[in-house]
Amino acid sequence: MIASPESMRGAACARPENQDLPWIGEDASPLARALMARVCASCPILATCALEAATTTTTAGFWAGHDRTTWREPTTVQDTLPGLELGTAA
Ligand code: SF4
Repeated sequence: MIASPESMRGAACARPENQDLPWIGEDASPLARALMARVCASCPILATCALEAATTTTTAGFWAGHDRTTWREPTTVQDTLPGLELGTAA
């Protein structure tokens, strides 16, 4: 989840219907992580979020289809939704 309000513009996780998911929680259930991965897969700023996650020291939360919580195995969109191919954002 992108922290900057300017960068959040268009973020699927900021939509009202997705705000109840535990984006910054450290104890998200497998179902919640699967739901967040599904939201990320359709997010219009997925590439921006992935870049920010890769260039920021993050140790918790769900970013760009990945659970960044350091004490848990990473979960990716591909792990959660086998067969789903991510395209590159334009
Ligand atoms: S890719 Fe996922 S975590 Fe990142 S802004 Fe989009 S919905 Fe939020």
